[in-house]
Amino acid sequence: MPQRAQILVVDDSRTQLDWLVRVLEREGYDVRTAADGKDAIRKVRGEPPDLVLLDMILPDMDGLEVLRIVKARPEDQFIPVIILSVKSDLDSKVAGLRIGADDFLAKPFAEAEILARCAAMLRIKTLQDQLRETQRRLREQTLTDDLTGLKNRRAFDERLQEEFRRAHRYSDPVSLIMIDLDHFKLVNDRYGHPFGDLVLRGASEQLRASTRDPDICARYGGEEFAVILPKTHLSGALAVAERIWKELSARSYPVPAGSTGPETSIQVTASMGIAFYPSKDIGSPEALVRYADEALYQAKKAGRNTICLYQAQAYRYEAGDR
Ligand code: GH3
Ligand code: MG
Ligand code: MG
Repeated sequence: MPQRAQILVVDDSRTQLDWLVRVLEREGYDVRTAADGKDAIRKVRGEPPDLVLLDMILPDMDGLEVLRIVKARPEDQFIPVIILSVKSDLDSKVAGLRIGADDFLAKPFAEAEILARCAAMLRIKTLQDQLRETQRRLREQTLTDDLTGLKNRRAFDERLQEEFRRAHRYSDPVSLIMIDLDHFKLVNDRYGHPFGDLVLRGASEQLRASTRDPDICARYGGEEFAVILPKTHLSGALAVAERIWKELSARSYPVPAGSTGPETSIQVTASMGIAFYPSKDIGSPEALVRYADEALYQAKKAGRNTICLYQAQAYRYEAGDR
């Protein structure tokens, strides 16, 4: 919430509106006004206030309808609403609270009361915002790999499901590149595990630099990475894989001081497997992973530091079928 809480007052009575604005501004609030329902909705959508004071009787629409629209999207940020209505109007008070109004003030109200209710609501709003932010950060943490800052395996699984579903629905292509660093055990064995970690971080940084924003880079596990390429067909995937392959192996890592051996820096190469949808045999995200993995295995078998496509096997399989 900004330094000065912003309150939107919705009331068609000019005198009521002026009085509220004066009282609230004197208290240090940033006050905006709306004289009818449509204007209120437009203002809430345009720049969500921290609190809405909403009159139930408006010239163009029912206050309850405005309330329903303001409260309709629970995934959006929390906007508290205090209903303003005449004391005798029990029906709209009950209906309002049922729809999700956060408080109710009966007209005519005393200055001290309106200020106390606004302050209480804004305290709740601050707590709600903090809670949402903490939840967001925690969720982010559960989806991030600690060592590299890339998406972790869980995030990869979620995103692959999503991207596959989207590709299926809109008949879009989607490609997957699986990447495994070559002879990485040797790096650890020669220079120690902390240096191995440093190389993994550098390789992850490079991976991010070699891909575009919509591409999803993840640490699949150990020294294995995965890149999901939404809306990307074979030729595009191949171009990305080649770029990654080239840039990854061009990067050099200065070896730790005191290491035995002639090198002052090392380079690491990677083997890669590519699979894409739509293609033969690939009808699920699991199959996409399985066949990209199989292609990666072929790349290892072919001597490492190379890229293999699942497609080649599928065609071979097809040819053998006939
Ligand atoms: P290949 O070319 O066949 O892939 O050989 P490789 O040595 O890379 O493969 P292998 O699966 O035998 O070894 C993987 C190595 O990756 C062994 C493991 O210690 C290392 N490794 C996995 N996770 C981490 C990590 O978080 N940090 C470090 N430093 N090393 C890791
Ligand atoms: Mg490896
Ligand atoms: Mg491995």
